[in-house]
Amino acid sequence: MFKKILIANRGEIAVRVIRTCREMGLRTVAVYSQADRLALHVRMADEAYEIGPPPARESYLGQDKIIDAAKRSGAEAIHPGYGFLSENAGFADKVAAAGLVFIGPSGAAMRQMGDKTAARQLMQNAGVPTVPGSKDAVDDPHEAQAIAERVGFPVLIKASAGGGGKGMRLVHRAEDLPALFNTASSEARSAFDDGRVYIEKYVETPRHIEFQIIADHHGNVVHLGERECSIQRRHQKVIEESPSTLLDEKMRQQMGEAAVEAARRCGYANAGTIEFIVDKHHHFYFLEMNTRLQVEHPVTEMITGLDLVRLQLEIAAGGKLPFRQEQIERRGHALECRVYAEDPENDFLPSIGKLKHMQRPGGNGVREDSGVGEGDEISIYYDPMIAKLITWGASRDEAICRMRRALNEYEIAGVRTTIPFCLWVLQHAKFCAGEFDTHFVQNEFRDVQLAATNGQLDLTAAALAAVLYRESQSPPPENETSSPAHTSYRAWKSRGWKQTLRV
Ligand code: ADP
Ligand code: ADP
Ligand code: MG
Repeated sequence: MFKKILIANRGEIAVRVIRTCREMGLRTVAVYSQADRLALHVRMADEAYEIGPPPARESYLGQDKIIDAAKRSGAEAIHPGYGFLSENAGFADKVAAAGLVFIGPSGAAMRQMGDKTAARQLMQNAGVPTVPGSKDAVDDPHEAQAIAERVGFPVLIKASAGGGGKGMRLVHRAEDLPALFNTASSEARSAFDDGRVYIEKYVETPRHIEFQIIADHHGNVVHLGERECSIQRRHQKVIEESPSTLLDEKMRQQMGEAAVEAARRCGYANAGTIEFIVDKHHHFYFLEMNTRLQVEHPVTEMITGLDLVRLQLEIAAGGKLPFRQEQIERRGHALECRVYAEDPENDFLPSIGKLKHMQRPGGNGVREDSGVGEGDEISIYYDPMIAKLITWGASRDEAICRMRRALNEYEIAGVRTTIPFCLWVLQHAKFCAGEFDTHFVQNEFRDVQLAATNGQLDLTAAALAAVLYRESQSPPPENETSSPAHTSYRAWKSRGWKQTLRV
């Protein structure tokens, strides 16, 4: 096993990796931009190296600076987290060429899967169903038009190098195609430096169901079950869960086998995710492979009891998978909510600022992965994620009730958050019944008054009351009700949403 690992990332995922390293007795090296000098991941690591100004392309995307920090620190391996350089095949190759271990798949496997049209072809050859559409990237709108007519409208224009929902356009009518083709292509060019796009039939009432796979360098590939990620906003996941309410054991087995086959075909080693889209007839199609640890991996960890980062490290160090497919047990139900500093009442605009007050949830069956705390700044430079909140329950109902309870324990002041939005989803009859598709948010979240939603807590009010209370406390009052701020805080806590305080 390695002795020292460098984590080429920031925020919650850097913290997540550091935690497992610490449990395994490995030393950790953080890298940070000038905006992250005091960040939690820097404070938690054994050593830390500054790698440049705040913009990611001048720091966290600086391949040479990161490799240089690894060499100077004496780290033997680099964990890329997700985002940033995690799916950059060139970086994986460079790390290997520098005599270091990249904790992830080989650059070659990444290249095969990173190009979505190449991945589609590989899957077709492997007998894994893919969405009907173009075989290769499409050069011009005329060719796109012909393919769209063949597979039938609506179609989706997608970026070959795509990720994070970028470079994707839905086309309902033939006459709209040329303009949308050009916008998708230019968006892809600016996001990925690669303007190639291709066409897929648009699957209606689709569900996004993905399979976690894990593979070692000795030919063993195992899947760890599915995650349902259909609760999305603008093609980005918001709430994830496992198991999916859609799958029966037979379908789970079929999709799991397809996922394992997909990983085998590209010579994959390490953790990866095969994403599928499932149509209303319950037919499933390969969407893409994410060749890295996924944001929502804790959902799988909660129901399997495995530590995916530990497995990643063991595999990268040459170890064998410690289990076979039939030894994987899945227990109960897990949900994850992504808590963002965004304003759900203002089209989810990032809500930048200082976390003036932050009280976190806890208790039975609750896990919170976060890279920020009270006093930290949510900046314009990076993803405005505050935390991932994960709950486990013996049943789906229990996991949902626990999630509502835990979300309500948050008190955050200084920024707006998506907590009220998550609570709105969690009390929606269709979500609770497991009857939804990827359009759930788009179709149902219209003219919703979040603050007025069924007993919805006004978290801003709670947080403000807490701040006022704390500031008024020196020394703490003998009589609990003697401080006006405390009275208002207690009143808020007991009456919740009826209080109308606002920052
Ligand atoms: P997940 O399936 O794990 O939710 P996402 O596709 O949402 O993955 O991406 C995870 C993170 O990686 C997000 O922060 C996203 O913005 C970023 N990301 C995804 N693809 C790319 C890419 N090609 N280039 C840069 N960042 C990316
Ligand atoms: P990204 O790399 O941006 O994650 P994906 O191919 O995984 O791109 O697609 C992201 C999301 O877009 C999916 O989860 C799904 O909601 C939607 N989507 C993608 N392809 C299709 C399709 N052919 N039909 C319907 N929805 C799709
Ligand atoms: Mg995807």
